[in-house]
Amino acid sequence: MQSLSERSSGFTDSVIRRMTRISLQYGAVNLSQGFPDFEPPKEILDRLAQVAYEDYHQYSITWGAQNFREALAAKQSRFMGRSIDPDSEIVTTCGSTEAMMAAMMTIVNPGDKVVIFSPFYENYAADSILSGAEPIYVPLTPPDFHFDPNVLEDAFRSHPKALVLCNPSNPCGKVFSRGELEIIAELAAKYDLYVITDEVYEHIVYAPHRHCYFTALPEMWERTISCSSLSKTYSVTGWRLGYIIAPPRIIERAKKVHDFLTVGAAAPLQEAVIPGLKFTQDYYDGLLAQYTHKKELFLKGLDELHIIHNDPEGAYYVLLDISEFGYDSDLKFCEDLARLVGVGAVPGSSFFREPVQHLIRFHFAKRDETLLEALNRLESLRRKIPAKKRA
Ligand code: GLN
Repeated sequence: MQSLSERSSGFTDSVIRRMTRISLQYGAVNLSQGFPDFEPPKEILDRLAQVAYEDYHQYSITWGAQNFREALAAKQSRFMGRSIDPDSEIVTTCGSTEAMMAAMMTIVNPGDKVVIFSPFYENYAADSILSGAEPIYVPLTPPDFHFDPNVLEDAFRSHPKALVLCNPSNPCGKVFSRGELEIIAELAAKYDLYVITDEVYEHIVYAPHRHCYFTALPEMWERTISCSSLSKTYSVTGWRLGYIIAPPRIIERAKKVHDFLTVGAAAPLQEAVIPGLKFTQDYYDGLLAQYTHKKELFLKGLDELHIIHNDPEGAYYVLLDISEFGYDSDLKFCEDLARLVGVGAVPGSSFFREPVQHLIRFHFAKRDETLLEALNRLESLRRKIPAKKRA
């Protein structure tokens, strides 16, 4: 028989999603795949119950229901500081995952290069490869995950078509400062690149850091494809509601790509989430206060256990240093952690281009009880997985 596609031949299954399955298998507290175990806002759930008996069961307009896009445009106009047109500047997608894929297919040709900062969320490389593009990587260097502008410029000299910018960043929690974004913007203009953003954690940015939308920088609107979703902001990761915001020239094309990929996001869910899109600033302040509390609770617990970790500036992930356990494979460590200690994590190697095996990622988008239970289990970590003796 003929072989299957070359493009997909190098893919492993998603390690993030695999770790959820492994956590379930061992009854582990699942801090691997990032999603909340608390309820979405009541206003959204109440509306969901009503929508079941209203007329929202057939396809919506392929690029998003009118009501949904209008509410989203009003909300994003407020945050992004420019007036977004709901008809010509938005495509509603099935999560930010589809938004990124559709953005990539709208922009790149087979053989093009796409620059990705490493560490990175694993879908970006897959999106590039599925679009026929070659990913090239620019390191974000710990502990503060800064990039070297010269290394970025070197990557840009190879004439890539686009840069993927995840801000706030999954998995390292970096929030790019305005100064850093200005450096990227200057280089993007100089080398004529598109910038595809993933800003799903736009409302989870810890003080004193601030989120700056790349598209809001001077002259960046024309070359930025802003991707985001409602998953994290309203705790509805399973609803798969995302979107692309970009200038009409790009959106016109992205609408077609999206239409052929998925036709559209779920119509009842677009309608049900509208009360969330209409929330006032109080909601976003409350969300941030909630995550700030969870971050402090969980990181303090890790400190008390003397586990070395980074201090995220945004998003809801933390990277832990597992060097002391002397594993050659962080995947094996995560399997042992789920099986022996009962806590699920994602191996850091699934995010880094560089050969990193000493980091694992937890997320803390969980109820306090869940986080405390995970910390409680981690107390037995060094008994159940003894540190490797130093030679
Ligand atoms: N963004 C989440 C994570 O990194 C979940 C991604 C997913 O599985 N779609 O864990």
